[in-house]
Amino acid sequence: MLVVMHTTATPADIDAVCRVIAEMGYSAVPMPGEQRTAIGVVGNDGRVDDTNVVGLAGVAQVIHVSRPYKQVSREWRPENTIVHIAPGVAFGGNAIVIVAGPCSVESEEQILSAARAVRAAGGTALRGGAFKPRSSPYSFQGLGKRGLELLALARAETGLPVVTEAMDEAGAELVAEYADCIQIGARNMQNYSLLKAAGRIGKPVLLKRGMAATITDLLLSAEYILAEGNTQVILCERGLRSFDTAARNMFDLNAIPIVQKMSHLPIIADPSHGTGLRDKVIPMTRAAVAAGADGILVEMHPNPERAKSDGAQSLYPEQFARLMEEVRLIAQAIGREISPPPGT
Ligand code: PEP
Ligand code: MN
Repeated sequence: MLVVMHTTATPADIDAVCRVIAEMGYSAVPMPGEQRTAIGVVGNDGRVDDTNVVGLAGVAQVIHVSRPYKQVSREWRPENTIVHIAPGVAFGGNAIVIVAGPCSVESEEQILSAARAVRAAGGTALRGGAFKPRSSPYSFQGLGKRGLELLALARAETGLPVVTEAMDEAGAELVAEYADCIQIGARNMQNYSLLKAAGRIGKPVLLKRGMAATITDLLLSAEYILAEGNTQVILCERGLRSFDTAARNMFDLNAIPIVQKMSHLPIIADPSHGTGLRDKVIPMTRAAVAAGADGILVEMHPNPERAKSDGAQSLYPEQFARLMEEVRLIAQAIGREISPPPGT
């Protein structure tokens, strides 16, 4: 339930509404807006009886949020949430954020070279996994803490903010010490203790859609993070498992406009995992920008043939640089722009 206050409501009116909500056994979340304050009611699982609230001084309207997810819904917050991962790098506004880099951090030379290439092409942020959720336990698992240190080194040199994955609760605390944004991967979208930990830590979170998750499942997972008080969540479409083996995944670009209607959170697209094939990543990145994605997460490796993970879907630096020019034109055609690297 959402209690919308009159523009003339006083702080005392708002306090009184919050008190009544607390007496009903729920939590009240006041959300001051430009014109008026709305007070969200959380803690209920089903319709709340509003009889004690509707008549209170200053109450303009009571809206019953009809969805299973609440705080992530557009009903709860009509305007876009803007997620800032670093000064000058924001998701959910007019500028489209390009997060690029290798699948995994492999060495100092590799990540520095990748970061320089991202920066030189005008990419906005650096990606790279230090903790890798691999389907096989025998595949490269990432450099762990050393990988985080190398990402911090690359950030110090290039100024690019860092997005990197955490796989469990303890890892999330560690990743938060180094990263500007904590990625929660497709395989962990429903790891509820990890979602809650990311909510408590309070750093921006990039939440990827599970490979067999519906859009509602994705939004309910995001709700876990918001329910802990962290509204800084970026959603990511990365393709679904399907019957068709022609591509690694079925890249669901429908999710972009659908999520934008259902939720106020930014949604970005990952055409690398969405397609799994370098030559398909290029057209599908263009398509994702055209579809209105708030950002792109794309894998690029200085030497894809030597990559320890996801080499086949990693762009060569020259391909990435060309793609940046193309998406700049596409963004312009739809009245948007590409977010430049910080400090430019
Ligand atoms: C990744 O971004 O490298 C990754 C492991 O992605 P996903 O969780 O979407 O498979
Ligand atoms: Mn990958």
